[in-house]
Amino acid sequence: MSSRGFPLVEKIDLHVHTSFSDGNYSVEEAVKIAEIKGLKVLAITDHYNELQYLPNRITRSKFSRYVQTLNRFTVFKGLEVEILQDGTVSISKKKVGKLDIVMGGLHSINNIKFWGDSYPIWDPKGFVEKVRVTLIKAVESGILDVVAHVSWLPDMIRKETHREITNDWIESVVDAFCDWGVAVELNCAWKVPDERFVKYCVKRGVKLSIGSDAHQRVMIGKTDYAVKILERIKVPEDLIFLPTGFF
Ligand SMILES: [Zn+2]
Ligand SMILES: [Zn+2]
Repeated sequence: MSSRGFPLVEKIDLHVHTSFSDGNYSVEEAVKIAEIKGLKVLAITDHYNELQYLPNRITRSKFSRYVQTLNRFTVFKGLEVEILQDGTVSISKKKVGKLDIVMGGLHSINNIKFWGDSYPIWDPKGFVEKVRVTLIKAVESGILDVVAHVSWLPDMIRKETHREITNDWIESVVDAFCDWGVAVELNCAWKVPDERFVKYCVKRGVKLSIGSDAHQRVMIGKTDYAVKILERIKVPEDLIFLPTGFF
C-alpha cells in the first residue's frame, strides 16, 4: 500500500466487513482481493458493540484479537460502531486510540430496523426527525471520524427519501458534521447520500469518505457510486477523507 501522493479515488475503500462480524470472508481474503483489485487504501471496519449484545457484532472481549489480527496486515484498523437510538455510540473513548478510523452506523430507531423490517412507519416525518436528532447527537460525541450511510432510511420509507429528507434537514445535519470535523460517508452499497446532500457538504467543507460497505467478496472495492458523484461535482482532493497516518 503506497503512502506517497494522493491515491486515485477509485482505489480507496474505507468500509469493508469480514467474518469478524457479518462479512462472509476472512481479513486475509479481503486483503488479497483488495490487492488483486489494485486498491491503495483499505480499511477493515467490522461491526462493534460493547454496550449491548447484538448478533454479528464484535464484542468487548474480542476487541484485542480483532486489533491484533488487523495489525498483521497493511490495512487501516477501523470499526463501524453502533449509533444507538439515543445517539450514544457503542465504543468507549479509551478503545478509540487503538484504531485508525471509527465510523458510526445507525441501523435502527424505535426498534425498527433499517433493513429487512416490514413494520409500517405511520409517521415518516417524525421518524426522519428522530434520525436527524440521533445523528447529530452521535456526531457530538466527539468519538466518530466518519458516519456511514447518512440519510439512509428504513425499507418502508426509503422510496420517500427525497421528499422526507428536506434541504433544512440536510443543512442541520451537515452543519453538525462541519462543527465537529466528522466526515460523511458516500456509501456505495446503499447509494447514499444523494448529490444534493454532497453538494452541501462541499459548500461547508465537510470531508467525504468512500466506502463499499462490502459484506461479500465481489463488493470489495466496488465504489462506483462515490467515484461518479465525486467526479460529477468535481470535489476537490482535500475534501476526500483519509485516515490519520495515511501520509
Ligand atoms: Zn452500517
Ligand atoms: Zn457496514
